Amino acid sequence: MSEFSRRSVLGGVAAGSMLAAAATTEGLASEQPPSGPTPALLAGAELPSFRFALGAVAPKAYEGGWLRAAPVAQFPVSQKLASALMQLAPGGLRELHWHSNAAEWAYVIKGECRVTTIDPHNRSEVVDFGPGDVWYFPRGYGHSIQGIGREDCQFILVFDNGYFSEFGTFSISDWVGHIPPAVLAKALGVPAQRFANFAKREVYIAKGTVPPPLPPRPAPDASVPTHRFRLLEQKPEEYTGGTNRLVSQREFPISATMTGAHMRIKPGGVREPHWHPNADEWQYYISGRASMSVFGSHGRIRTENFGAGDIGYVPQGYGHYIENTGTEDIEAVVVFNNGTYESISLSAWLAVNPPALLAANFGVPPDTFAGFPTGARYIVR
Ligand code: MN
Ligand code: MN
Repeated sequence: MSEFSRRSVLGGVAAGSMLAAAATTEGLASEQPPSGPTPALLAGAELPSFRFALGAVAPKAYEGGWLRAAPVAQFPVSQKLASALMQLAPGGLRELHWHSNAAEWAYVIKGECRVTTIDPHNRSEVVDFGPGDVWYFPRGYGHSIQGIGREDCQFILVFDNGYFSEFGTFSISDWVGHIPPAVLAKALGVPAQRFANFAKREVYIAKGTVPPPLPPRPAPDASVPTHRFRLLEQKPEEYTGGTNRLVSQREFPISATMTGAHMRIKPGGVREPHWHPNADEWQYYISGRASMSVFGSHGRIRTENFGAGDIGYVPQGYGHYIENTGTEDIEAVVVFNNGTYESISLSAWLAVNPPALLAANFGVPPDTFAGFPTGARYIVR
């Protein structure tokens, strides 16, 4: 690992270094093609790693919580989706901020938190999240997250831009701390003295106190699209080898650019071979042991093992399947950088073609295909 990447992962560097790092990633971003497979993936004789051990990254710690990030500099294949694991103590506040170049999707793994948002119509939503809940903030929308309840709140964050950095975000303390008090006084109509003791640099995660409960029945404002979707409360799709709960824009209207899923694969189960025509795929393994095999054309296959705390990544259009190689369920969160879910599976593709055609294709007799599936199987055992 280079010194640059070490600093990027571990954080804890001076503001100047962080600005330099941000400028470097911006430069990289501008060199990327707007869409399609990346040159790095096409050019190499060998496929890059599709696994990143997020659990092994040293957290960047604050009094109110911590963060582990998986930037593209450390995980080169993750060109289109970036991610971070965050934990907030009760009262810990991920300060008011926005992201200039990415929408934010999250899944709450444990604990509870309260989110505040503002949209371009100056409408706000204040809503509490618990385990199994998903949020989505469109690119540029302001938001804050605070741990509530009695235990730490942990959530996995996904951004629809691999060159996004959670460390290079736009924070209210960073901005206000750099505006002259005289300007703030004019803009907000209060004495400049009020700003004398404001933080002068980015706070990022503040230590706070747990806020009181929200009113039991807050008047619902139907004109404000909600940022919360209770994914784990949905009835799952059931398969012989596991279950899946999907949240695309169809189920969650505000989630225009991302789709998520909560997937379980039983011991011995396989998420069958398939690919996604319209999106890259990002995965976070909460529990279980998995083997994922990725097909990148020209005979290139790479198979890697995944466990709790690992991230997996599959570029758009690359074939892949996931096997449960352990003795407990795989529980994984899966995210795509498209609000519409699309996949094509090997079983469905074979099912729609005549046996004679398949026979010619593979060089075997047509009766070889007797008893093959008649459609997609999804998760089998
Ligand atoms: Mn954010
Ligand atoms: Mn997939």
